[in-house]
Amino acid sequence: MALPVEEWRLHAARGWAALEPAERERLAAAPLQDAVRLGCGLLRPEAERAALWRLSQRETAGKDPRVARGCREEGNRLFGRRRYRAAATLYSQAASHELPGTPEISICFANRSAALFHLGYFEVCLEDIARAESHGYPDRLLPKVLLRKAECLLCLGRLRDAADILGVLEKKIAMDGTMASPTEQALLKKSSQLKIKIRERETCPEPPREACGGIQRQSEIWEENDSISGASSSLSLRFNIERGRHLVASQDILPGQSLVKEEAFVSVLCAGESLLLPGSGETALDTRVTNADLYCHRCLRQLLASVPCRGCSYAKYCSQDCADVAWEQYHRTECSLGALLLTLGVFCHVALRTVLLAGFAEVSRLVEWSHSGDENLRSPEVRCKHLGESPDMRAGSRGIPGCNDSGQYQNSYQAVFNLLPHAEKHSPEHKFLCMLSVVAICKQLQEAGLEAAVLNRESSEKQSKQKTREKTSDELSPELMIMAEAMLRHVLQLQCNAQAITVMQELESGDGAVVNKKPVRLATAFFPVLSLLNHSCCPNISVSFNGTAATVRASQPIPSGQEIFHCYGPHQHRMKVAERQQCLSQYFFECRCQACLDELESDVKSVVSRRNSFCCPSCRASLQGEDVLCCSNEACAVSVSRESLLHRLQDLQQQIKKALELLRDRKADQAVKMLLKCQRNAGNFLSPEHLLMGEIEDHLAQVYATLGSWQEAARHLERSIEIVELHHGPSSVEIGHELFKLAQILFNGFAVSEALSTIRRAEEILSVHCGPQSTQIQELREMKACLLELPRSVLQRT
Ligand SMILES: [Zn+2]
Ligand SMILES: [Zn+2]
Ligand SMILES: [Zn+2]
Ligand SMILES: [Zn+2]
Repeated sequence: MALPVEEWRLHAARGWAALEPAERERLAAAPLQDAVRLGCGLLRPEAERAALWRLSQRETAGKDPRVARGCREEGNRLFGRRRYRAAATLYSQAASHELPGTPEISICFANRSAALFHLGYFEVCLEDIARAESHGYPDRLLPKVLLRKAECLLCLGRLRDAADILGVLEKKIAMDGTMASPTEQALLKKSSQLKIKIRERETCPEPPREACGGIQRQSEIWEENDSISGASSSLSLRFNIERGRHLVASQDILPGQSLVKEEAFVSVLCAGESLLLPGSGETALDTRVTNADLYCHRCLRQLLASVPCRGCSYAKYCSQDCADVAWEQYHRTECSLGALLLTLGVFCHVALRTVLLAGFAEVSRLVEWSHSGDENLRSPEVRCKHLGESPDMRAGSRGIPGCNDSGQYQNSYQAVFNLLPHAEKHSPEHKFLCMLSVVAICKQLQEAGLEAAVLNRESSEKQSKQKTREKTSDELSPELMIMAEAMLRHVLQLQCNAQAITVMQELESGDGAVVNKKPVRLATAFFPVLSLLNHSCCPNISVSFNGTAATVRASQPIPSGQEIFHCYGPHQHRMKVAERQQCLSQYFFECRCQACLDELESDVKSVVSRRNSFCCPSCRASLQGEDVLCCSNEACAVSVSRESLLHRLQDLQQQIKKALELLRDRKADQAVKMLLKCQRNAGNFLSPEHLLMGEIEDHLAQVYATLGSWQEAARHLERSIEIVELHHGPSSVEIGHELFKLAQILFNGFAVSEALSTIRRAEEILSVHCGPQSTQIQELREMKACLLELPRSVLQRT
C-alpha cells in the first residue's frame, strides 16, 4: 500500500543487482540531486517504463461504461432487496464510470436519489435529483422523478414547493398526451394522494420538532502557542542531539487537555482492502467497494452521494466545491495519472501532492537552499553545536530546523521540507526504487503535457518549447528535475514521518441497534507539528481525527518538564518488546522507553505474552515453554507442541469467521450456536484471559443484540470488557469503545440506571481520548437525555 506494488519492487531490485559495482557505489553515495539526474538515464523506456505501464494496466482509474453497467445492475438488485445503503454505494460507483452529461450518468443519479429517499436523506435526495436533471435526464422518465421530488419536499415540510412540483408533473403528463397509459395513470393517482397529504399538513401543521434539550457543545479551553502553530501554549519546542526536535510540557497538563490541533499539510486517501457489502454476496471483481468509494477524496468526509471527477473513476468528492478545489490544487495534474499512482503506492502519491500543494516557487526556493552547502541541514549534530551548549533554551528555537527566521514553527512546506529524510540510513536498493518511481512520475507528467499544470503556469510559449525538448531528449526539464528531487526527499521522509489518519468505521452488522465500530486507516498524511513528537511504547497522549484534522490530547496527567510521547504503532499493550523493536527499525532508532527498558532488563515477560497464552488441554493449568509447552501442574505432565496449538488457534479463527458470515446473512440463530461451540472449544486450550476469548464474547453480545436479547447481550459484553481491560488498561480508548457498545445495549434493553452509569463511564474515558465534541460523546449525551426524559413510571420499574 505505502510502497509500490510487489512486481515493481522486484523489477527495481533486479535492476539494482544488474548494475556495475562502481555505478551502485556512485548511486549509494549520491546526494538526492545527483540521484535524480542518474535516475533519468536508468529508467529505460523499453524496460522499466514498459514494465510499469503493464502493471498500471491492472488498475482501474479511467472511466469504463461496462463497469458502470455492472454496478448499476448490482445496485438495482440490492435496491429490490431493500439494501438501500449498499445500492446507493453501487449507483455512486456506476456514476463514477459514466461520462458527464450523458443520459446514463443521469440515470445513476436518479436511481441513487431513490435509495436516498428510502434512507430518509431528503435534502441529499433533492441534490441528486437536481444532478440527474442537469446531466440530461431522459424526458420520458421525468414524471417519476418529479413525484419523488414532491414527496421529498413534503417530508421536509416545504409544502408550497411540493404543490408546485405536482402542478408541473400533471401539466407535463397532460401535454405528453399519454394519460391513458397505466404508468401515467398510477403517477396521477399518487400525485393526487400527495396533494391530499399536503392539504392535511397545511390545515394542521405539525408542531415544530423540539431541539434536543440539554445537549450543548462544550467549548474547550484552548490557548495557542506563540511559536508553534496549532500547539497549545502549555508545550514548548526543544532540540538536542539525542532526542532531535521534541515537545515538552511547559506546565502541568491534565488528562483530556488538548495539546495539538493540526490540519494535515497534505493527505492522500488510501483505497485499502475491498469491503464486503452486506447482502451483495458474490459480486464480480469490478463492483468491489473500497474506502476510496466511501470517503471524500479531498476532505475525507464520509460520502453519502458522491460527486465523481469528470475525468477519472477513482476520485470522488463530498460536494462540487471539494471537487473544484481539489482540481485547482492538485487533481488536474493527478487525474490522468491514477493508474500509475496506484501502482507506485501511496508514499509516491503523497510526495507528488506535497509538491503540487507547495507550488513550484516554494519547492525550488527550498531545494536551492538545501544545495547552498548548508551542512547543518543534513547533520543534526552539527546543527546542535551551532546552537551552542544550551539547545534547550527557548530562545534557541530560531535555529531549530524547520523554524522560520522569527523562530516560529508552522504547519508549512518549510516545516515539511525539514523533516528528516534519513537519506544516509535507507538501504541503497530502497533509495534506487524510490528514485526510479519518482522519475517515472515526472517523465509521465512531461509526456502528458502536464508540466505547465505542475509548475502552475498557463503560458503556451513555454509549452511549445516543452514539446521540442520531449522529442530530442529523454531528460527531464530543469524545473521537473527540481520537483523530482523534492519528491524523492518526501518519499524518503515518509518512512519515518507518515501519519496515518484513522476513523472508527462501522462494521456491517444485522441491524442498526448496536453500532459496532473498528478503527481503520483512511489516509496517509504529513502533519509537521505532530511529527515533532517522539515515539514511546507507553505514550502519554491520544490522537483522534476529524476529516483531515488531528487533535492530540493528554491521556494521563503530564507534569511540567516531561516530554510528550506519541506511539507510532507498536504499543506495549499490543506487542512484545522484540516485535516492537523489529517494527520500529523502519524509523532508524532503538526505543528506550520505560516499557522497553523494563521488559529488556528484567526477565519479566511482557503483559502481551502472559495474557495471550495457552492452557493445558487436560487440566487447564497454564502451559510453559517455547517450542514444546509443558503443563505447569506437576501432577499432570502433559506436553504439547506450539505448532499444534497454533494450528488449533487458526482453525478456531476460521470457525469464528464462518459464524460472523452467518450473522451477516441474517442467520443469527445459527450464528449463536456456532459461536457457543467456538467458545467451548477455545476454553479447552486458550487461557481465560486470551484476547480471542474476549472477542468471542463480543461477537456473542452482538448476535444476542440482533436477536433482541438485551440482557444476554449485556452479560457477554461485560465479560469482553473485563478481558479488554486486562489487555489495554481501564482508561484506554479500547475500553471506551466497549463501554459505548454496552451503553447502547443497556439503552435498548431499558436498563435505565445501568445504562446511565455506563454512559457516564464511557463519556469520561472517551472525552479524554476523543474530546467532548466527538460524535460518540454526542451520541452518548443524546442517549442520556432520552433516558432522563422517560416517564417516572418506567424509571421506577427498573
Ligand atoms: Zn469533501
Ligand atoms: Zn480525476
Ligand atoms: Zn518502547
Ligand atoms: Zn495439565
